Amino acid sequence: MTVNVDQSEIAKFEALASRWWDPEGDFRPLHDINPARVEYIQARADLAAGPLVDVGCGGGILSESLARAGATVTGIDMAEAPLSVARLHALDTGVEVEYLATTAEQLAAERPGGYATLTCLEMLEHVPDYPSTVQACADLVAPGGQLFFSTINRNPKSYLMAVVGAEYVLGLLPKGTHDYGKFIRPHELADAVRRAGLVVQDVRGMRYNPFTRNCTLCDDVDVNYLLHASKP
Ligand code: SAH
Repeated sequence: MTVNVDQSEIAKFEALASRWWDPEGDFRPLHDINPARVEYIQARADLAAGPLVDVGCGGGILSESLARAGATVTGIDMAEAPLSVARLHALDTGVEVEYLATTAEQLAAERPGGYATLTCLEMLEHVPDYPSTVQACADLVAPGGQLFFSTINRNPKSYLMAVVGAEYVLGLLPKGTHDYGKFIRPHELADAVRRAGLVVQDVRGMRYNPFTRNCTLCDDVDVNYLLHASKP
């Protein structure tokens, strides 16, 4: 069996794990965009409807927020060090989250239909075969469930903003964090979502200003965007 994991991608996150919860550090953009995305998810899914799985949870910024908002959360990732950081942080803050080292495909084989809600944010642009991840996400959710994906669009503007600007000019993210060729256009993600038997409910742009550190949702999906889907 080929596993849908790019070890060079995982290695980048292993190396940065200790800095995950530093709001001024390498993951500062994730800290800054977190409130807006949590609000979007809460407005569109009932977190008390059943368990939630956070695919590619890393150090747990989103997982913890969703648990604090009332969800019973399983966070999964293939990088061990971020998961250790996530477990320690949850102990520290007294938030209960189940963290597992596994892929969406593997967990879908073990717990098909096991979740009412699924989040997979800022992760699809790091896997070799994102339609396979999307299919596994669809399999993890029970009928009637809600799924949330986010990634980066692929065009000259997103290259300038997300790679040149964020990594090279502003130094917001470590150089090499993102591989432009793996960015996903909204219609490509929507295709994969539909092929997995899901229904696209909404696509929203995310506008992040690194100077004010303000993040708002908008209609412009040129760079970062969120997609909400449901399982019939
Ligand atoms: N979703 C989190 C973290 C995003 S960083 C957030 O938005 O706050 C991307 C994460 O995806 C990293 O932790 C990385 O280790 C993980 N990842 C990359 N490929 C993966 C795979 N194939 N399976 C599971 N996790 C993966």
